Amino acid sequence: MLAGVELGGTKCICTWGTGQDDVRGQEVIATGPPAATLAAIARVLAGWDFRALGIASFGPLELDRASPDFGTILATPKSLWRGTSLLPLAKDMPCIIDTDVNGAALAEGRWGAAQGLHSWAYITVGTGVGVGSVSGGRILRGAGHSEAGHQRIPKLAGDRFGGTCMFHGDCVEGLASGPALAARTGREAALLPSDHPAWNHGAHAIAMLCHNLLLTTLPERIMIGGGVTNGQPQLLAMVRDHLANSLADYGNRGPVDQLVVPPALGARAGWLGPLALAATIIDEPGQRRSLQK
Ligand code: ADP
Ligand code: ZN
Repeated sequence: MLAGVELGGTKCICTWGTGQDDVRGQEVIATGPPAATLAAIARVLAGWDFRALGIASFGPLELDRASPDFGTILATPKSLWRGTSLLPLAKDMPCIIDTDVNGAALAEGRWGAAQGLHSWAYITVGTGVGVGSVSGGRILRGAGHSEAGHQRIPKLAGDRFGGTCMFHGDCVEGLASGPALAARTGREAALLPSDHPAWNHGAHAIAMLCHNLLLTTLPERIMIGGGVTNGQPQLLAMVRDHLANSLADYGNRGPVDQLVVPPALGARAGWLGPLALAATIIDEPGQRRSLQK
């Protein structure tokens, strides 16, 4: 038995089970101030019997085990949560903490559109742009977790929009996130017509991100989810067109409609992510030492 906690900006989903076809319990808790929210989650977990816990959280997170702040939420715009440690949720339980997007990437590998692959990437385009990369079946980690959504890319010729990223301006997130589309057009992204020219800018930025990922972390497939992409089904074809132009057949990677696909789990990837994280503890006892504090 596993337990998973998805920590989101508006709600937290606690799940007890082993996978999408075996859910024994699920509780949704509104995200409020950190102490009260974590206490409510801990009360839910205390009622369940499980062997491993996965926590998938909004980021950024400190995931360097050498750091005294391991398991802490870093410079999030949700300022109350800055500096909050998620470790107390684990108590003495084997536990993996990772970003929501890394959790979703693992869930797609276990139950979704990346089954049977060795290496894949999951991109979410929503309030921000997040990337989870899996290489050889494992989440790609280094000095922390991926921040590939903040990479700098060329813009469409003549584009003078400065972007919305508070750190970089026109990085991918600053050009393709929901708030970026809203800033470019003066209208909420969800209310823009599907043929609005602004979508071409967003699609181009995501295609540049895919180009760079395909040639660096070498995913066999890229899944693109998140509120913006899910709400704008026309975007996927636009991303594929820009990507095909950009790749120019280089690298012999095959047709773009097989390289870039929608996620199979949709909204379920959120709560399945932490279960997939927890499952890695059971699969590979060696992970216990490497990922758990
Ligand atoms: P988050 O990134 O906060 O986890 P989501 O992935 O749901 O959450 O993304 C939220 C973003 O998606 C918001 O910027 C919102 O404007 C945008 N969004 C929601 N629905 C649509 C839609 N139908 N079309 C375009 N953008 C949308
Ligand atoms: Zn940025």
